[in-house]
Amino acid sequence: MVVSHLIQSLPDATIQSSAQARDTCGDNVKSDVVVVGAGLGGAAAAAVLSRAGCDVVVVDRHATYPADFRAEQLVGSQTDALRRLGLLDGIVGQTTPMPSATAACYGKVIDSTYSLHYGLRYEDMVNTTRSLAGGARFVTGRVAQVVAGSETQKVFLADGTLIEARLVVLATGPNCGDLFPSLGIERTMLSEHHSLTLGFDVQTASRRILVYYGERAGDRMDYLTVFPIGDTMRANLFCYVDPGDPWARSFKLNPKQALLDVMPSLERTIGPFEVVGKVQVRPNSIQRAENVRQQAGVVLIGDAFQSSCPAVGTGIGRILADVEALSRLVPSWLATPGMGADKVERFYTDPAKCQFDVQALRDTHYRRALCTQTSWRWKAYRTQHYYRRRTLGIISRAIRRDMPLLNGAMVGSQHNQKTRKGRLFNSLARSWGAAKRALMAALALLTFG
Ligand SMILES: Cc1cc2nc3c(=O)[nH]c(=O)nc-3n(C[C@H](O)[C@H](O)[C@H](O)COP(=O)(O)OP(=O)(O)OC[C@H]3O[C@@H](n4cnc5c(N)ncnc54)[C@H](O)[C@@H]3O)c2cc1C
Repeated sequence: MVVSHLIQSLPDATIQSSAQARDTCGDNVKSDVVVVGAGLGGAAAAAVLSRAGCDVVVVDRHATYPADFRAEQLVGSQTDALRRLGLLDGIVGQTTPMPSATAACYGKVIDSTYSLHYGLRYEDMVNTTRSLAGGARFVTGRVAQVVAGSETQKVFLADGTLIEARLVVLATGPNCGDLFPSLGIERTMLSEHHSLTLGFDVQTASRRILVYYGERAGDRMDYLTVFPIGDTMRANLFCYVDPGDPWARSFKLNPKQALLDVMPSLERTIGPFEVVGKVQVRPNSIQRAENVRQQAGVVLIGDAFQSSCPAVGTGIGRILADVEALSRLVPSWLATPGMGADKVERFYTDPAKCQFDVQALRDTHYRRALCTQTSWRWKAYRTQHYYRRRTLGIISRAIRRDMPLLNGAMVGSQHNQKTRKGRLFNSLARSWGAAKRALMAALALLTFG
């Protein structure tokens, strides 16, 4: 099988002509690692592993990642992880970050968080990440089968092309079940129709980032977030409503009214607004791959391993934790013979990765319960949650108004460590963080004894 028409270079990647590919590999493509799927997870893995000196081939159905409604913000610990992986500057490029976000409910401001927020479309995130995979070779095509073993892995494309590698990284996202059966991997449904995410553009005079929480548990709303992407104000609404629910259907016909039905005081915070353009609707189920540890030669990352609830906002954090684990493990795996299950197991037991996966699932179930349960216990819990955040918000605002020095520290612990003022701000920020956690614990104790 001739692979000439399939091998492409990523925008900045090493260009390998088809003739070179055939000279070095015969009719098949050979590499250390083949990454199947170049969404954010696969593209980031390819970038990081090829920079670490591994010979990487990436396969994806799409030469350019198409327009897709997915994560549209990079925030907080996600940007920290991207910085550690050396990808942040390349991905955010010229995007202007917003320094803070305001949380509100019942038409009142609850609190503000201070960390850099970047608004950008998922396809732009993915395509720029692909362009950072400097040394990787990119193959366009659909992977039809993976035959894995403890030495060499064989990846067959739908047209019969064969790619051989020592390790396969499956980064095929949440809808990738067809490759699993031949590998003995099963997918368990943890929560079907778990949540619904709606995306739309809004016209509003405000340019600040707003996170507005649902006002009543019976409405099954989690939160609306409004943020800039370039000149557009974009909104994502995260809720736990069935896509066939009359409210969800009414949202498509009259989105502004449907939004005000469940968030009646929204305009008191955001000001007058209009929903413009098409409303995108994405239902989400939570699934996890099982029997992965005993499969030699293959690791699953990102949503291929465990899908993410968008409301929890841990999808990208989990992908990056997986990529960081790969960057720690894969170079040493390649330095010794074989790719047995013992090596693969070390990926699935990586403490940082496991902590992310477990916490993401816990938060997934907790958030849904917090927004949908109507028992007195959950009502009390919600009330306590609201007043705890509001109290802290009032304290924070008072500090910002009356103590400009501490305010400077609260705006983040990323000041210049080399200057005296920067070190002072960083230490004040850390103390403020510790005081906030202690205060939250005390308020929780006071509420529930
Ligand atoms: C509406 C929505 C909003 C979200 N919001 C947030 C958020 O605010 N914050 C957050 O952290 N997370 C959010 N998420 C979750 C986040 O977007 C996902 O966790 C993330 O996109 C998963 O990336 P991935 O690389 O695992 O998979 P994907 O990005 O799905 O990539 C999979 C790739 O594999 C390719 N592929 C699949 N099968 C094959 C095959 N057989 N052969 C070749 N190629 C194949 C596909 O073409 C695709 O390019 C949201 C998700 C949704 C749906």
